Amino acid sequence: MALIVKKFGGSSVATTEKIRNVAKRILREKAKDDQIVVVVSAMGDTTDDLIALAEGITRNPYQYAREMDMLLTTGEQVSIALLTMAFRSMGQDAISLTGSLAGMHTDAVHTKGHITDITPDRVHEELNKGRVVIVAGFQGTDEKGDPVTLGRGGSDTSAVALAGALHADTCEIFTDVDGIYSADPRVVKGARKMREITYQEMLEMARLGAGVMQPRSVEMGQYFHIPIHVRSTFTEEEGTIIREDYTMVEKGFEIRGVANDDKVAKLAVLGIPNTPGVAHEIFSPLAEANIAVDLIVQSIRNAERNVTDMVFTVASDDLPQAKAVLDKVADKLHATGVQVEKNVAKVSAVGAGMLGNPGIASRVFGALANAGINIDIISTSEISISCLVRGDQMKAAANAIHDEFFPKN
Ligand code: ADP
Ligand code: ASP
Ligand code: MG
Repeated sequence: MALIVKKFGGSSVATTEKIRNVAKRILREKAKDDQIVVVVSAMGDTTDDLIALAEGITRNPYQYAREMDMLLTTGEQVSIALLTMAFRSMGQDAISLTGSLAGMHTDAVHTKGHITDITPDRVHEELNKGRVVIVAGFQGTDEKGDPVTLGRGGSDTSAVALAGALHADTCEIFTDVDGIYSADPRVVKGARKMREITYQEMLEMARLGAGVMQPRSVEMGQYFHIPIHVRSTFTEEEGTIIREDYTMVEKGFEIRGVANDDKVAKLAVLGIPNTPGVAHEIFSPLAEANIAVDLIVQSIRNAERNVTDMVFTVASDDLPQAKAVLDKVADKLHATGVQVEKNVAKVSAVGAGMLGNPGIASRVFGALANAGINIDIISTSEISISCLVRGDQMKAAANAIHDEFFPKN
């Protein structure tokens, strides 16, 4: 007997026909006494559509974060009910559970919640009755019982965390690609499928924009030592295993992959005093508003007047909130103003092999230079190099870097 957690993303359950196909596939592959937990996302673009609805009411709906969660959690609830009906209509006993009923506890950070604990007693109880258990991804409840969502792509995290808490034998993420590639195959034509990738490298790819897995889900896999199998909903073939270490030798490249992210915006607080404590004055209210900041640059603009500019990026979803916070800070600091640039994107090369290999960075910059792409901001970690470029040049930049390290035969 095996306990298996399977997660199906939005495109896998986009129509009622697809929902029925998911149920059929699970029943076809299920051994008689397997215990199956299915985590599902909202159907197709439902989450985006719900956000658009909220934007029809107010320009910055995320300021009403609890109500956003009340709204967004409905998407997954539609899917769990329909998938459960599909199983039952096929003669398989099944039950749907919201995040709360499945014991997914979170902190109270609405729309960006973290799972704090999982008490899956009800899940076990239902599995022991021979039922397939269908759990709403992307959601949990805080101490007060209020709904909290886990950030975009959060169903991945629900699935891996639940697999960990249930001590599942496997965790499979079914999606619309057949595995993890060396770059987003929608962006880079020659992207290559990997058979395995380590948690460390996948986490960095995900953090830098590879939307195939939510970064926190990879952290959960690492924490619980659960290998994650990412594979296609629509084909049977093996996908990619995310695990601790490589177990086979694949053709080696100097980098593991390229990630891109155009859901970023650049902000500049201009003409601020170049004195101690100013960075703190800018970034602590952003932190209080739970807005993460990336790619920070402080420049000396006018040494004589001792003023400087602080330039950095935030996630696009956070832009209205960040701008509102910074307008207040700018007033307080007597800054010249706050500038916003939306046409930007981050393109990154990722790979544990670049540690201590300075040649990699220069090849990344060379590839971009040859493609005529200007780099606005650069940042590095031990296993990645990221460049901020113009948004409309993201695709060309990702392809240029990919071609440099994964030459076409
Ligand atoms: P789901 O709805 O199943 O969660 P997502 O849209 O969140 O699916 O994630 C799958 C998408 O991730 C793919 O369609 C692909 O365009 C994108 N993606 C980005 N980077 C990668 C990568 N390195 N490998 C595979 N897919 C990637
Ligand atoms: N439905 C949510 C989203 O679109 C969660 C997910 O799909 O993982 O972000
Ligand atoms: Mg996803």
